[in-house]
Amino acid sequence: MGTGPAARGMKVAKFGGTSVATAAQLLKVKAIVDADPARRFIVPSAPGKATSSDTKITDLLYLAQQLGAKRQPLGQVWEQIAGRFLTIVAELGVALDLAPELAATRKRIESGASPDYAASRGEAIHGRVVAALLGAEYVDAAEVVAFDRAGRLDAKTFTLIAQRCAGPGRYVIPGFYGATPTGEIKTFSRGGSDVTGAVVANALDVSLYENWTDVSGVLMTDPRVVPEAKPIVEITYRELRELSYMGASVLHEEAVFPVRDKGIPINIRNTNKPDDPGTMIVAERDAGHQVVVGIAGTKGFTVVNVEKALMNAEVGFGRRLLDVFERVSVSFEHTPTGIDTMSVVISDKQLVDGNGVSKIDQIVEDIQGAVKPDAIKVVPGMALIATVGQGMNHAIGTASRLFTALAKARVNVRMIDQGSSEQNIIVGVTEGDLAIAIRAIYNEFA
Ligand code: ASP
Repeated sequence: MGTGPAARGMKVAKFGGTSVATAAQLLKVKAIVDADPARRFIVPSAPGKATSSDTKITDLLYLAQQLGAKRQPLGQVWEQIAGRFLTIVAELGVALDLAPELAATRKRIESGASPDYAASRGEAIHGRVVAALLGAEYVDAAEVVAFDRAGRLDAKTFTLIAQRCAGPGRYVIPGFYGATPTGEIKTFSRGGSDVTGAVVANALDVSLYENWTDVSGVLMTDPRVVPEAKPIVEITYRELRELSYMGASVLHEEAVFPVRDKGIPINIRNTNKPDDPGTMIVAERDAGHQVVVGIAGTKGFTVVNVEKALMNAEVGFGRRLLDVFERVSVSFEHTPTGIDTMSVVISDKQLVDGNGVSKIDQIVEDIQGAVKPDAIKVVPGMALIATVGQGMNHAIGTASRLFTALAKARVNVRMIDQGSSEQNIIVGVTEGDLAIAIRAIYNEFA
């Protein structure tokens, strides 16, 4: 994919909603950008919450769109949106007259604009404010981020960005949106400015993708369970994926792929504490000094234990069992097996049909018919905990430390699954034991 030599050694700096929520926050952004000439490509979100009781501009824009679709006046909602932008511009004292653009946007939303168009204006308009503040060139993302007819990112995006941002200066490319082949505005899914940042990083072959947010990196575990949870210093793309699968959310899921393709590291940083090093997300790391990087746990699983003597010798047993789940459109998470047992772990969300009726009785009945088991036991109320770390299954003693810690905390381990990726050990415990178990594992490995 295209790249100018000027871009090498350069950085993309993406700033999330809270980082750009107020004039005061934007001054922190300016200080960060000015501190490093390598920060040449800036990707801002729309203004997020200024306080916890505040509403994100993106959410207000979706509300405005709903009113516009019914041809109702935008009234109060628009006053809030426009007011936020105008206050920020006035407080920053930048020479920018947003009134004409705000008026035109309002008009378009009032005459029934699409949700994607309306939502994208948060980034599109705020990008102008950020560009004016930084003295950078504004690039409308609709010009350079292209979606194909099927709604996927078009590979020509990378060339478009490289060509448009080939100069020596600083560029602001608003996050979250692009345009379809017919010129309609389309957004990524929520939180999608992360994806724009990653795409820009790939297109310009930068050396680092900085993702500035309001925490000092990815924490080793959920701070609601372990308030003193430390940030992870270094984690691989793959390890992050394993942690996110179990509910740890820092980055948009799709934001890793474009940078991973080029081996560009992502650095999660805190706009409010710019001196904190944050978390580096890299292709490879030396696992020697930190075997376990993170622990993630989620409630809401049911385990179906199926027992049958000599099951291991019965050709097709596993297929027939899993076929039952497929027929009722239930996907499974894990299938730990023993000599005469096979368990299927299912997320509770999968177990209810469109009318909220549980499929479990049907599943049990079908299993009876399909594999004629000696016994079936359904265990609801399970929580899964993933302890993640590259090569941990090679590090002798890791599993023993994990299970000793759980035993000392008097946690009964109901299920064990050592992922074939050799990146994690998953244990199942009752939901009531989840917090105790996470704390025990954290204290052992942090
Ligand atoms: N403003 C968009 C959202 O709230 C995109 C983003 O901030 O990344 O989802």
